Amino acid sequence: MARVINFSAGPAALPEAVLSQAASEMLDWNGSGMSVMEMSHRGKEFVSIAAAAEADLRTLMNIPDNYKVLFVQGGATGQFASIPLNFSAKKADYVVTGSWGKKAAKEAAKYCEVNIAAQPDSFNRVPAQSEWTLSDDADYLHITPNETIEGVEFPFLPDVNVPIVADLSSTIMSAPIDVSKYGVIYAGAQKNIGPSGVTIVIIRDDLLGKADAKTPMVMNWEQQAANDSMLNTPPCYTWYLCGLVFKHMIANGGVAAYADVNARKAAKLYAAIDASKFYANPVDADSRSSMNVPFTLANAELDAAFLAEAKEAGLVTLKGHRSIGGMRASIYNAMPESGVDALITFMAEFEARNA
Ligand code: PMP
Repeated sequence: MARVINFSAGPAALPEAVLSQAASEMLDWNGSGMSVMEMSHRGKEFVSIAAAAEADLRTLMNIPDNYKVLFVQGGATGQFASIPLNFSAKKADYVVTGSWGKKAAKEAAKYCEVNIAAQPDSFNRVPAQSEWTLSDDADYLHITPNETIEGVEFPFLPDVNVPIVADLSSTIMSAPIDVSKYGVIYAGAQKNIGPSGVTIVIIRDDLLGKADAKTPMVMNWEQQAANDSMLNTPPCYTWYLCGLVFKHMIANGGVAAYADVNARKAAKLYAAIDASKFYANPVDADSRSSMNVPFTLANAELDAAFLAEAKEAGLVTLKGHRSIGGMRASIYNAMPESGVDALITFMAEFEARNA
């Protein structure tokens, strides 16, 4: 069996040790005689799996006790609507630094007035807060700390008096954060957490209980929290796999240990791009993503050959998002440093052959 080095933006590579463990437990989880896929979500086995996953996530992210943690469905996209609904928002500020924030703002505008506090003409930087036009009566401020498509990451946390709502889909657990600085954090699982199908939502207690009466119950944070995210049948198997990833991360030193490796991975990949006239990354140095590294070739006619030869070398899913083209290397927690080294070596060889 030859496993590829997978630079997919999501669903993305998972730790091999986790996949092996899941395989070994596939037919019989922990002596239960059942696969996790076959268990009742109300049974003691699955309830213990769910509780352990939440406890381990709380440990990893150092989540304070006055925050609820949900494991729900509908993706980060579902939360784009859940957010204004759960705030019963009249007005919200959105800082748009890429495609996902733009989508979030557009969806929220169905439910409340949206003020675009900042949106650069091209998505290649995070404007300083001094450039924003914040409202004085917003119910919350929404940011996308890491824009997965454009590879734009906030180098700072906004300083505001309203709750910060942050889409951490592509950056959660990549480096330590202070959860207490946020009102709501949400993230689709399929990048740094596990397979697709679960969305993690972390909400400060005082923000619960404000939902619009028309909020669908599966999107109602307070009701989901009161039901331990089991208001209806949850995505049990995905939840279990997320739990295995959390245990694996704890065993490997926790978020801080991953942050060190992630910083090295990103630094060496950007350094290689910057040192070459053949490759380029358009993002301002201080706003570059540590998780998603888009880059272009000086001659776009070589894109197809680059991708084909990379695949031959075992390096896959390097094609950039269809909306911006070029290449993109997503280097989440499960991407080992050796994978980034292999990409850098391949890029240098390809350049030498084609420049
Ligand atoms: N926000 C960000 C930052 C993302 O990267 C993505 C998915 N790539 C989404 C939202 C949408 O997530 P989902 O497909 O889980 O709805």
